Amino acid sequence: MGRFIEIAIDAAQLGAGQAQAVIRACPVDIYVLDAEDALTTVPSREDECILCAQCLVHGSGAISVRRRYGSCAALSPVGGQDA
Ligand code: SF4
Repeated sequence: MGRFIEIAIDAAQLGAGQAQAVIRACPVDIYVLDAEDALTTVPSREDECILCAQCLVHGSGAISVRRRYGSCAALSPVGGQDA
């Protein structure tokens, strides 16, 4: 977990192709596969998130990204932030 960004992944909901798509889509290389080929994050990189929502677009509801500051709003797949 980052200091400013919290990312949650339900890896069981993601197929291998979707996990690879999320890895490719993140412009700041936050996502990787773990030893069991499940999608996870590099915790030390989570605060590099630029809130672009591309992981949500490719993650089919299995990923949530939330700011841990300000309104603490969750990011939505269309690029805005949920209330
Ligand atoms: S919102 Fe963008 S920068 Fe942040 S983790 Fe998702 S793809 Fe990466």
